[in-house]
Amino acid sequence: MATVQLQGIFKRYGDNQVVHGVDLRIAHGEFIVLVGPSGCGKTTLMRMVAGLEDISGGDLLIDGARANELPPQQRNIGMVFQSYALYPHLSVYENIAFGPRLRKEPESSFRPRIEAAARMLNLTPYLERLPRALSGGQRQRVAMGRAIVREPALFLFDEPLSNLDAKLRVQMRTEIKALHQRLKNTIIYVTHDQIEAMTMADRIVVMNAGRIEQVGAPLELYDRPANLFVAGFIGSPGMNFIEGEIQRETYGASLVCADGTRIHVQAPGIEHGSRVTLGIRPEHIVAGQGEVRVNVEVVEPTGAETHLYAKLGGQPLCVAAAGRLAVQPGDALSLQLPETRLHYFDSATGARLNQDHPHEQAA
Ligand code: ADP
Ligand code: MG
Repeated sequence: MATVQLQGIFKRYGDNQVVHGVDLRIAHGEFIVLVGPSGCGKTTLMRMVAGLEDISGGDLLIDGARANELPPQQRNIGMVFQSYALYPHLSVYENIAFGPRLRKEPESSFRPRIEAAARMLNLTPYLERLPRALSGGQRQRVAMGRAIVREPALFLFDEPLSNLDAKLRVQMRTEIKALHQRLKNTIIYVTHDQIEAMTMADRIVVMNAGRIEQVGAPLELYDRPANLFVAGFIGSPGMNFIEGEIQRETYGASLVCADGTRIHVQAPGIEHGSRVTLGIRPEHIVAGQGEVRVNVEVVEPTGAETHLYAKLGGQPLCVAAAGRLAVQPGDALSLQLPETRLHYFDSATGARLNQDHPHEQAA
């Protein structure tokens, strides 16, 4: 097992600063998922933890000891990165056996681990093949097998399932979770996939432009995003945002949009005249009742849900209704935006304004 601490970690490439003081404390056995838009510094951060990239400033502690200058091979880390290099002249089996052979481990000790990894990764029929006779997804699984047989204290996965088809991704997701439960090692895992992040993580770290925006359990981030960035990044389809001005009234308040649309809300504790971005997830809007009226523009049946697209206050709105709806483009539709599902953000700073946990009050 391994703990990892990042203390004020910076990274510069020449004059270009790409990681701006990242602080993060990862416990023994934690499954940490790192998400964020392309170019925000996820891979750079992983490479610094792995020792493949110099740290420009700050401290990296592995098991409490400063590891900034520790050579990669002394960090006891198993890595699977987006771009993985297999030895082209070695079979799948020998590629996976490379690490244990290097450490002069007897074959009788590592062979069962390779066979188990091959079963988990659906690679058993391919163990004697050369990498050039494999598909991209199969090669990616070989790279994963190589990391797994080492049983390291710390795994770094950088979008390891990105080359796999949808069905295999789901299967591998379950396998990686099972592997984690069995080995109880520490995992830092980068993904673009919302479902992977939500289902695998003990905690999700949301990064943006070289900084951490929020760290929390998946449902904490879903229920109570700290700012507009996290609110928009976590959840699929993404949270709706309606901008306007809060006008306090005798009972409650209204969000008044630029086109004059008034949406009745409670806006607890928010002052008259505040510029506010109201957030509500598509799955929390109730269709077919309520005082908000929209005209449906697009209807997308996904099977389990129906996604409706419309405009509210001149701003795009997505509604995800369970099941199938007899709604056509052009239809008028009543909507309810339940107050307990509303997120209020300061339009200027993006910071969350309501401090309650919406889901806890939901009926
Ligand atoms: P992510 O993995 O989140 O997509 P990266 O960590 O790969 O992002 O990149 C973060 C930023 O650092 C990007 O702006 C990228 O262009 C820059 N960067 C990455 N590697 C290098 C490099 N070797 N030299 C210069 N800039 C780099
Ligand atoms: Mg990357």
